[in-house]
Amino acid sequence: MRKTLKKLFAGTLLMSLVIVSGLASIILFPEPLFANKLEHGQVNVYANAPIEGSMTVVVDNALTLVKKSELYDPTYTFDLFFSYNSLFNKVDGALLGEFVSARATDNNVVVKVDIDSKRDLFFRTLNKACQGSLTYLLAHEMIHCLQENKYGKLKFNPLRHPAYWKLEGYPEYISRQSKLTSEAYRLNSEIDRYVELESKANDIWILIEEGACEAPRYYYKGRLMMEYLMDIKHLSYDQILNDTISEDDVYAEMIEWNDQAGRK
Ligand SMILES: [Zn+2]
Repeated sequence: MRKTLKKLFAGTLLMSLVIVSGLASIILFPEPLFANKLEHGQVNVYANAPIEGSMTVVVDNALTLVKKSELYDPTYTFDLFFSYNSLFNKVDGALLGEFVSARATDNNVVVKVDIDSKRDLFFRTLNKACQGSLTYLLAHEMIHCLQENKYGKLKFNPLRHPAYWKLEGYPEYISRQSKLTSEAYRLNSEIDRYVELESKANDIWILIEEGACEAPRYYYKGRLMMEYLMDIKHLSYDQILNDTISEDDVYAEMIEWNDQAGRK
């Protein structure tokens, strides 16, 4: 009887291990689940729908932004998966939840929502239905891959990572470089805008850009703090990560700088 129980236990344990490792390999190595693949420089694109030529334009534009980051590595390969309406999405959603449009795991960027590469758009359904730039979304997630690549899975994983303003502020800062480096852009006006929006906001959602998708406010706040630390104080991302100054102290310092700059 004891032996039978032991065997049964061992069998169940083995089955569970097979299921868990099977699900883990689907999440980490989803390539076989996709019908189409396009190799484009240091980026591989996977999708079930045919991959249109316009996708390479979006990928190139996202890479141009990513190359502005100190974390960029020319030897690194990104795997992009467009998984809207796929079996992968169902498994991923059941395991990791359905609360994101895209996610970065290891060197995989998974875009879970519908996209239109010709119009450079992704269509989000989370919170409120809206659309945003696919280039921005890819660049943002690719920076998450590079954070993990540079600092390791132990420092950058869903359970353990730097404070949100450092984790999300930096991908926001890099992916919005076209806007932040444009002639018309002023960090001071942007800080004023944030302060006003934050004072009126009823929840964590905030409209970072007119006509785009709302995002949790720490994305916007974190990006502004990155801009202040990197563009005004000339710190590197590495220095910011290693700095122990608190979020509240950086924010207060930035607001003080903004008030002084505004009075000049
Ligand atoms: Zn992110």
